[in-house]
Amino acid sequence: MTLTLTVDGERWRSHLRSFAEQTPGLVPVAKGNGYGLTLGRLARRTGWLDDTVGGFDTLAVGTYDELPHVATRYPGSLVVLTPWRPWAPALEPDLADRVIHTVSRPEDLPALLARQPRARVLLERMTSMRRHGMSATDLWETAAAARRTGAVVEGVSIHLPLEGGNLPEARALMDDVVGAEVGTAWVSHLTAAERAELSRSYADLRLRPRIGTALWLGDRGALRVTATVQDVHRIARGEPFGYRGRTAPKDGHLVVASGGTAHGIGLSAPASVSGLRQRAGTLAKGGLASLGLTRSPYSFDGRHLWFAEPPHMQASMLYLSGNGPVPNVGDELDVRVRFTATSPDRIVLT
Ligand SMILES: *Cc1c(COP(=O)(O)O)cnc(C)c1O
Repeated sequence: MTLTLTVDGERWRSHLRSFAEQTPGLVPVAKGNGYGLTLGRLARRTGWLDDTVGGFDTLAVGTYDELPHVATRYPGSLVVLTPWRPWAPALEPDLADRVIHTVSRPEDLPALLARQPRARVLLERMTSMRRHGMSATDLWETAAAARRTGAVVEGVSIHLPLEGGNLPEARALMDDVVGAEVGTAWVSHLTAAERAELSRSYADLRLRPRIGTALWLGDRGALRVTATVQDVHRIARGEPFGYRGRTAPKDGHLVVASGGTAHGIGLSAPASVSGLRQRAGTLAKGGLASLGLTRSPYSFDGRHLWFAEPPHMQASMLYLSGNGPVPNVGDELDVRVRFTATSPDRIVLT
């Protein structure tokens, strides 16, 4: 029994196409679980975008370990977003020519070039994210060193915090890119309006926006996750069930559905209500939360189901109170998931 992601293929492709057409210089990001869609699928889709819209010469992955998942499915250049470190794996020569490394510390450049003399690199500038990157001075010196030593500088990498209000910081960073005498800025998390504004102010700089979520998951209506009902049991108030011998808070039904921790289900569900004041509030509303239950991401007939207990590895025990309609074995339940943390068993493209 499966957790299924159904993709409305035509609607999804049409979103991808229009997003691509409106986003000059776009570098799709395919990392982690492939935004729920798998890395291989996103790699093939990037090739398709290149065929249909054009200009998709590069795909970004998160780590060196992800390269094998995309390299045979997409023929272009591959940026690795995680900065290169001396323990990065050696690459096969054919792949090495396609890979663009991210260099975020001055000392990593000579170490990388010792291994791969004409390596293609992005030089990463530190931002308010404070994750990786160099100061402006280190960036300028490293850019000069790269030119002297034969590295191929593909641009400066700038990773900003989540979208919204990044323009003032981005402007200051663009000045640093210009100062480094590099012509391309690879940017994350700028809005389309912010990018347009920067392109006006820095007409000589080329912007390469790196985007995952808004591209692949930008039209949620094209994606639907469903679980199969595997069992339904009537349960009376006070009857025990589950791993922990919990008892049913009221008469109702236990619904056992596919999807569990192995799929990433429930891990980000809101914690059950525990604070006294909060508990009093929910008690006043008369919700099941006041009885210690947690809302699940599953719904049936427009009604949210509750977790009867924490999700199991491949199934979840859900609780439906009252005498309303009850699903049948074999019915599909809608599941609201965080795609970046969910691995469906099956992806169906309609
Ligand atoms: C993950 C990542 C992105 C893409 O982020 P989304 O929010 O999914 O668009 C861009 N840049 C870097 C450096 C990343 O790690």
